[in-house]
Amino acid sequence: MDKKFGCACGSVEGETKKVEIQKPKDNWYLPYMDKKKKGIEVEEKKSPVVVFYCAGASNVGQSTMLSSVKAANEVGYDKTALLCLASISAGLANITNGAKNAKGIVAVDGCPMSCSMKTLEKAGFNPEEHIIISKDLNVPKNFDLNSSTDLEMIKDAVVEKINKVYDK
Ligand code: SF4
Repeated sequence: MDKKFGCACGSVEGETKKVEIQKPKDNWYLPYMDKKKKGIEVEEKKSPVVVFYCAGASNVGQSTMLSSVKAANEVGYDKTALLCLASISAGLANITNGAKNAKGIVAVDGCPMSCSMKTLEKAGFNPEEHIIISKDLNVPKNFDLNSSTDLEMIKDAVVEKINKVYDK
């Protein structure tokens, strides 16, 4: 009997499989900057564009987070990093240091209250790009936190902003 032998990774002897190369999904920038700040030796890397999202308690607020993660997965974490907006409000030095040393900043907000943008400005930052999902992308705001409609379209808009800042 003609038997094929497989291994745990799913490859089968005698078969040629198309291997999809995945971009690493490690949000490495903050721990890297922390090490640098402490004087720990690191392999030097180019600073990415950092994205802050409001993560508000509405459909569009939640979309800022979900779409930013999707966008980072798509462009890769060598090009972008996601940083915690709440840490900016809390005045944490490591996040502030990360934002200061970034290639640039994209602020993603759910609605015109612009909590992400205002928080960053209050902390002395001037983000290069800003998206307001309900206004710029015409996604109506509601309070269904499990709604994930338009995520692909929102992700595309975040990717565009990241690339714009990165290519400057
Ligand atoms: S920008 Fe709008 S959705 Fe985001 S946290 Fe502020 S009020 Fe909530």
